[in-house]
Amino acid sequence: MKQAINTLLQETLDRLASLEDAQELERLRIEVLGRKGKVADLFKQLRNSPAEERPALGKLLNEARSRLESTFEEVKSQTAEVPRREHVLDVSLPGRVPQLGHLHPITRVSMEITEIFLRLGFEVVEGPDVELDYYNFEALNIPKDHPARDMQDTFYVTDSIVLRTHTSPIQVRVMEKQPPPVRIIAPGKAYRCDSDMTHTPMFHQVEGLVVDKDVSFGDLKGVLTTFVHQMFGPEVDLRFRPSFFPFTEPSAEVDIQCVICRGEGCRVCSATGWLEILGSGMVDPEVFKMVGYEPEEVTGYAFGMGIERIAMLKYGINDLRLFFDNDLRFLEQF
Ligand SMILES: [Zn+2]
Repeated sequence: MKQAINTLLQETLDRLASLEDAQELERLRIEVLGRKGKVADLFKQLRNSPAEERPALGKLLNEARSRLESTFEEVKSQTAEVPRREHVLDVSLPGRVPQLGHLHPITRVSMEITEIFLRLGFEVVEGPDVELDYYNFEALNIPKDHPARDMQDTFYVTDSIVLRTHTSPIQVRVMEKQPPPVRIIAPGKAYRCDSDMTHTPMFHQVEGLVVDKDVSFGDLKGVLTTFVHQMFGPEVDLRFRPSFFPFTEPSAEVDIQCVICRGEGCRVCSATGWLEILGSGMVDPEVFKMVGYEPEEVTGYAFGMGIERIAMLKYGINDLRLFFDNDLRFLEQF
């Protein structure tokens, strides 16, 4: 009997030392100290033991029970303290990695376009978003009655001040300030009063201008072909299609082979196999006259492209508005 008491005491203390959580602790407490537990069993056995041994055994059992009760309490209070231990500095834990930001896809594509032209010897310039009507239209040979001046397209600040509808006014500002040769690109925002799946009131363009002696349409084709091959891959075909812009003559739009179907014809390219990516042309002599260049002495070419359009084709995005929703699930993919 005496040995049974000591064994139970020792075993229980050992098990308490290796306990993992509060649930296990409670299970053990019921097993040992519960109403039908092992200690209660021993008290029952005590009644059957010889009368002369009973007082000593009773004392021993009582001591064992109170020792166990206080040990359970102690372990229980330590288990309850576990959450507070989180505040203890554990230098062996791996550090918390801060969430990294991403460049916006428009910024990335804009930088990529800029880098390609920098390698081709172009210089980057900027101009104001709020622009004089003169630079946005008149100096670019866009007469008063041109449809681009319609209130539906242009945000007018006053009669003579607008939010620039394209990045082309930067061409004029550069030519006014410096004599030829000119070799610039101008990335920036443009604004038009238009909003649907393929138009947003604010969008991004890159403008390019080269003016020098003997610049030809062949130079234009060479530079834009190099650009397309660096941007979309050397296997992508492109074509120049006659077009019209008030500030270039002759003018051409550039199409690339559809990046989705590789020219087979699909919904994105309206089954033509081609996608328009930019407008271009030889600078109209009228524009040279406005900035004081001599059209008999210099020639030049200009081009402009929408950065959203390039980004949509490069990443296969079908809705322009995704760029401006600021949804992290979309932005984190880049
Ligand atoms: Zn296609």
